[in-house]
Amino acid sequence: MTNLEARPQEQVCVAGPQTPVELIEPRDVPLGGPRAMTVRRTLPSRQRSLIGAFCFADHYGPDDVSVTGGMDVAPHPHTGLQTVTWLFEGRVLHRDALGSVQPIRPGQLNLMTAGNGICHSEEGTPEHFPEQRRLHGVQLWTALPESTRHGERDFEHVAQVPSFTVDGALVQVFMGSLGGVTSPARADTPLVAAQLDVPARTTVRLAVDPAFEHGVLVDSGPLRVAATDVAPAWLAYLAPGRAELVLETGPAPARAVLVGGTPFEEEVLMWWNFVGRTHEEVVAARDQWQAAIAGDPAGVARFGEVSGYDGPPLPAPELPSVRLKPRRQPGRDR
Ligand code: MN
Repeated sequence: MTNLEARPQEQVCVAGPQTPVELIEPRDVPLGGPRAMTVRRTLPSRQRSLIGAFCFADHYGPDDVSVTGGMDVAPHPHTGLQTVTWLFEGRVLHRDALGSVQPIRPGQLNLMTAGNGICHSEEGTPEHFPEQRRLHGVQLWTALPESTRHGERDFEHVAQVPSFTVDGALVQVFMGSLGGVTSPARADTPLVAAQLDVPARTTVRLAVDPAFEHGVLVDSGPLRVAATDVAPAWLAYLAPGRAELVLETGPAPARAVLVGGTPFEEEVLMWWNFVGRTHEEVVAARDQWQAAIAGDPAGVARFGEVSGYDGPPLPAPELPSVRLKPRRQPGRDR
């Protein structure tokens, strides 16, 4: 996934009183491409930039790919983050600078770790997957900590993530640990991500790590989270200090994605597809990507190249005229 906002803006979060459950409204963002698939973005938002290390949450579908054309994101770069691809329906083909060519389906995880730099493409089109009718899922990013953000690029595919049931709900854990099961996926800070499927008229008491803050992104529902009704596509934020999450459904079943982690202590600066710390780093990453797509060896060394994608890579948007500043976290002024 790429951030294709024509003019990506830096957003500064303002400290405020912490409510028991904070609701984050999704905003529609066109992903670009000839038929412009639209995603619902809840992170980063005006209120909140990160939940644990999760710094980006896009939710899409269910889209009829014969109408939308599916997903077709040309090669683009990333730095300082992991891309987490998780589907409810459909198929997506991932290619990256490591030579990975990896289709993914529901129940599987594609996790790409950018380190200092990588590039990839993502295709979930009727041409690639003729049997696919609908595309529906999320893409999350995690910010890498200082200790690994300059490191080697990496990619892993988990063909079947661990799962468990609690109070009738199915929980598929695709990152971190929950309910006594642990995903094999790499996590560079303490975090968790899981799909929750809650039957109708059910109350689930899910034990969670009280050191974590959590987000519940509702796909279908509504889902009542800690006594607060959360509508589909909205993200509920819960501050650290909870040992369990109480999830309740009414006449309809619900599906959601849980994310969480220890509050990320480093200030991050996100612009386009780059996560860094300073304006200068982001400017350098942009310059090197533009050099890479022009064939400059130093640029190619930083981001690599995707082979097999039919089309040119995505150029970076123009930088804003103002100097980029790191994001501050509510209640975390240092
Ligand atoms: Mn991407």
